[in-house]
Amino acid sequence: MTTTTRKRALVTGGSGGIGAAICRQLAQDGLQVIVHANRGLAAAQALVEAIRAQGGQAEAIAFDVTDAAATAAALETLLLAGPIQIVVNNAGIHDDAVFPGMQLAQWQRVLDVSLNGFFHVTQPLTLPMIRTRWGRIINITSVAALAGNRGQVNYSAAKGALHAATKSLALELASRGITVNAVAPGIIATAMSEASFDAEAIARLVPMKRAGTPEEVADLVGFLASDRAAYISGQVISINGGMI
Ligand code: NDP
Repeated sequence: MTTTTRKRALVTGGSGGIGAAICRQLAQDGLQVIVHANRGLAAAQALVEAIRAQGGQAEAIAFDVTDAAATAAALETLLLAGPIQIVVNNAGIHDDAVFPGMQLAQWQRVLDVSLNGFFHVTQPLTLPMIRTRWGRIINITSVAALAGNRGQVNYSAAKGALHAATKSLALELASRGITVNAVAPGIIATAMSEASFDAEAIARLVPMKRAGTPEEVADLVGFLASDRAAYISGQVISINGGMI
């Protein structure tokens, strides 16, 4: 285990498009980054190597955030090396269907990753974070929770619930030097959005006529994770090219 005085940041879904950009940004900002993956451990390990090659500190870990026991065991191991003061709940999936045709399994799967995953990951980290009197909890949600989106009743419900959780948890932790915020991206150019939005749809839906980049989201997350954002808590900040 690396010994360091750098603050440690866990980014769930660090193997994915937005998560990887967040990991790179936080490492560049001088944090020790824990790059989390589910099935994509090889991608997380490759990212760790890339961060280290640039002089940053990173390690990779894999667990399924829907598996409460596996998540608890992985976090327990991580916490042996000290508190994790920044957690970015970024792991997420969508499984779209118009509501009359939506299967219970689709509903449950999406809520399980975004909402139950938030609980499984964040709850065990809060007490060690509170003891340090400094922390950042950043939940990656979606513009779909703010404006709604056809075919995404499950996804927008999961992300909207995270907005509510963000506000309540921010109240609980405000006096402990811990901020809790949500970042709600619009259409960001990753594998997830490329499957759903072609260039025509992006031009129609986004006033800026382009998808955002993962790096633009990561920049905002990096700011919220920094000391400069110490007085921002309980907020949902959307980054969407003017969509809403
Ligand atoms: P990707 O599909 O590229 O990445 C999703 C990440 O979530 C992967 O790292 C994946 O891990 C992880 N993940 C999925 N299921 C689980 C699970 N059961 N346990 C643990 N990890 C899991 O998506 P994006 O980078 O585009 O999205 C990142 C976040 O941003 C998501 O929460 C998404 O909802 C949100 N978002 C994205 C937008 C976009 O336009 N791209 C717009 C608005 C919000 P692995 O690959 O290792 O299995």
